[in-house]
Amino acid sequence: MAVEKHHVAEHFAARFGGSPKWIVRSPGRVNLIGEHTDYNDGFVLPLAIDRAIWMALRPRDDRRVSVYSIDYDQPGEFSLDSLTKEDGGWIEYLKGTAWSLQEAGHPLHGFEGVLVGDVPLGAGLSSSAALEMATARAFAVVAGLPWDPIAMAKLGQRAENQWIGVNCGIMDQLISAAGQADHALLIDCRSLQTETVPFPPGVAVVVLDTSTRRGLVDSEYNQRRAQCESAAEFFKVSALRDVSLELFQALAHDLDEITQRRALHVITENDRTLQAVEAMRRGDVAALGVLMDKSHVSLRDDYEVSSDALNAMVEVAAAHEACYGARMTGAGFGGCAVALIHAEDAEDFVQATAAAYQEKTGHTPAVYVCRATNGAEVVETSD
Ligand code: ADP
Ligand code: MG
Repeated sequence: MAVEKHHVAEHFAARFGGSPKWIVRSPGRVNLIGEHTDYNDGFVLPLAIDRAIWMALRPRDDRRVSVYSIDYDQPGEFSLDSLTKEDGGWIEYLKGTAWSLQEAGHPLHGFEGVLVGDVPLGAGLSSSAALEMATARAFAVVAGLPWDPIAMAKLGQRAENQWIGVNCGIMDQLISAAGQADHALLIDCRSLQTETVPFPPGVAVVVLDTSTRRGLVDSEYNQRRAQCESAAEFFKVSALRDVSLELFQALAHDLDEITQRRALHVITENDRTLQAVEAMRRGDVAALGVLMDKSHVSLRDDYEVSSDALNAMVEVAAAHEACYGARMTGAGFGGCAVALIHAEDAEDFVQATAAAYQEKTGHTPAVYVCRATNGAEVVETSD
């Protein structure tokens, strides 16, 4: 059940009395194509989705931030003058964002508010980035700071890296900050330049959670990063982004077989992501779907970050006639797949795919039909 903005205002009234001065909304995300390309200075193509964190708030006269989490049914509070890391759970995301904004020289003001969301936690839709960007958006509106999505995304990433201690790239925060309704966002992870790309009409993006998680993701991830770095060194470039397929084909025979395949995935995936943008601009949904299918094969066979559950999900999704294309999304080894489907058949697709996946694997999936929405925004003010 999607969270409606008036619910967050009702929660505010119940907790603090009166009306909030502002309501901010900040979305989760899914990456359509461009996987394991971000740390190779490459391209990604995510969309902000209609699952989000909502905050209703009003300023305080002092330098305290007091927020009630509806989902945890728990208060959280801190002073902007004495930020210390604790094992505080969800409030650490707000503290870390406050820390990062103040470190960057932004003068902040205290506020009180409520926080509620419907981005599933730890499902690969990046509820943490949504929370960081909701917090940044809230501080920006309270303190009257200009909203610069790229700068704010970097500060959110810094909070996640240094306060929370999660080594993520820039994609999650940037799409949550800069998404645009009915568009995907091409991000150049080197320059951080972005380009909105319109979705062709009549398609829906479906996130298919395999309900499987694998513990070894971090060590596998670090190993892939190291392999990419050594491949870049071999080609004498700063990142695999700079290696064309021609250069790869001319020189790769001197690389060991595994590193060859890792590099080949990144090089072809960057190319597919740029081709996907062209296909979307042409309205060529079929071509976009084929690129997603190829991305999955490359992640499965060359990059070797898929799993049996992900492969099963992609297979059953692709077998449905409403499906244009499907692939694993996110770091891999479990988590979610993403499919592009004919929107009118969404209901049948969801039912058939969930049933077929369950039958095949014994796991009960979670399925989310998504719409591309705006990034972090102030959706309502009292004046
Ligand atoms: P994800 O893949 O969804 O980003 P993370 O583990 O990175 O998963 O972040 C999840 C954490 O973010 C939660 O444990 C919680 O601390 C915080 N969080 C996410 N959504 C909410 C919410 N609606 N209310 C409070 N905290 C939230
Ligand atoms: Mg996260």
